Amino acid sequence: MDAFGRVATDLRVSVTDRCNLRCTYCMPPEGLDWIPGDELLAAHELVRLVRLAVDQGVQEVRFTGGEPLVRPDLEEIIAGVAGLPDPPSLSLTTNGIGLTSRAQTLKDAGLTRINVSLDTLDAERFRRLTRRDRLADVLAGVAAAKDAGLTPVKINTVLMRSINDDEVLPLVEWALDSGLVLRFIEQMPLDAQHAWTRSEMVEAAAILSELESAYTLHQSETPRGSEPAETWNVLGPDGAVRGTVGVIGSVTRPFCSSCDRVRLTSDGQLRNCLFAQTETDLRGPMRRGAADDEIVGLMQSCLATKRAGHGIDDPTFLPPPRPMSAIGG
Ligand code: SAM
Ligand code: SF4
Repeated sequence: MDAFGRVATDLRVSVTDRCNLRCTYCMPPEGLDWIPGDELLAAHELVRLVRLAVDQGVQEVRFTGGEPLVRPDLEEIIAGVAGLPDPPSLSLTTNGIGLTSRAQTLKDAGLTRINVSLDTLDAERFRRLTRRDRLADVLAGVAAAKDAGLTPVKINTVLMRSINDDEVLPLVEWALDSGLVLRFIEQMPLDAQHAWTRSEMVEAAAILSELESAYTLHQSETPRGSEPAETWNVLGPDGAVRGTVGVIGSVTRPFCSSCDRVRLTSDGQLRNCLFAQTETDLRGPMRRGAADDEIVGLMQSCLATKRAGHGIDDPTFLPPPRPMSAIGG
């Protein structure tokens, strides 16, 4: 438990900082200085740290990156965590490239849920936004995830002013027709290039007002709890529920007061907040032979210093020293 009474039950595990896309709001065109291979945690090291976190109360593990599917041993990592005595629920955040051949093996390894990131349905726009011509692969990946029975399949969309903010309704229609749960995420100051500006961000309130002008929305009855997304059921003209849509107002409607997250980077650093300025090294002690108790002590002291909030709107706000792709989104 941290100093504000929040309990860390949701662990985000980054398995790599590398990626096969170059989304403009995340990375520069040339990519980044990747973490050297010998500093990345091996599958068995990741599984050990997740086991210790689960022993401390973690109930949900989401694998992310960078792009987690660039790791060929992702299934081994997932199977290792799924095989723990009291396994957490397992999900994955991915750009979807490669899912056509791996959705089923991931499911078989123990994955249950998946989030695929997709910001546009237009192939040329996708190429400009991600600097790669891969929209068809992502759409095929989404279909493969559904076919494999990963449930739910959620779509994460970042809207950018004058770039894709005219696609709110086309994306929602596509998601509703395809049985997908779409969530719009406010863009955060987490890009490696530090190009984010508050005034250019598409705010949750604007997204919601566009949704309300097109649809009858009913606040979802499922309690939000520590879920970052505010969700609504979308009603069709006959009053029947067509599906669910969500908005994650990370900047303008922060959910820090109920945050239950902790993050492990692919090089074995524990972070108590996406925006934390400091990290707790678990890899070094682990590789020097630390016993489980010692590592658990390091985990607990990291959590104890979790701040009340990310403070993006504070005049003293500083973005974290590493970009989202290296921390794990
Ligand atoms: N590569 C995978 C993907 O794109 O889903 C996983 C890692 S990515 C960093 C995780 C999520 O973070 C994606 O949904 C992506 O759109 C989102 N993301 C990346 N940079 C962001 C930013 N500056 N603000 C808000 N969300 C961002
Ligand atoms: Fe890669 Fe995901 Fe970043 Fe896009 S958002 S560059 S897919 S890590």
